[in-house]
Amino acid sequence: MKLQSGKTVVVASHNPGKVREIADLLGPFALTIKSAAQLGLAEPEETGDSFAANAELKARAAADASMCAALADDSGLVVDALGGAPGIYSARWAGPNRDFTAAMARIERELAQKSVTAARAKFVCALALAEPRGDCAIFEGEVHGHLRFPPSGDKGFGYDPIFVADGMKQSFGEIDPALKHRLSHRAQAFAKLVAALKMP
Ligand code: IMP
Repeated sequence: MKLQSGKTVVVASHNPGKVREIADLLGPFALTIKSAAQLGLAEPEETGDSFAANAELKARAAADASMCAALADDSGLVVDALGGAPGIYSARWAGPNRDFTAAMARIERELAQKSVTAARAKFVCALALAEPRGDCAIFEGEVHGHLRFPPSGDKGFGYDPIFVADGMKQSFGEIDPALKHRLSHRAQAFAKLVAALKMP
């Protein structure tokens, strides 16, 4: 699969935070970026049992519906002491109103019930790049760290305010977005995609 400059790539996400981050990452490659929401594409149900499976089904659905290459991200927060939750259910924990304050409070409550004070966690990202009715390649990245309550910072999205990456003092909600883009799970998956596609 190739992504020549000028080619249209549909970012198969309806999450504005993710679309913004993926568009930033694709910025240097002179592609025409469209979002699934912009094209009015339906959001498929995430029925997969892994980040990779969900990324693939979203990328394939958007590629087949738009007849353009499509890039999908499935990602989430994996908390060791909660048996990997919320994991692939990270978006669903926030409910239909995408209430991440409530989702972060649930994590804090469930950790307290288990008397866990220093919770290890990681963000995981699977990126899937699909051609219409064709190949689909998957690239995965992770960033490890710990959780810190109360949530702090408003620069990110989702669970960023409670996640502190290893070696950092500030949460992903507090750090400069440019720094997050360099070290995040999404950046690492993206670096693998760029290497595999030998993009300039
Ligand atoms: P999905 O991949 O659309 O199922 O949603 C994954 C969910 O994981 C997002 O809605 C966010 O809540 C969370 N998530 C994924 N990546 C990040 C990130 O970089 N920061 C904060 N939360 C994230």
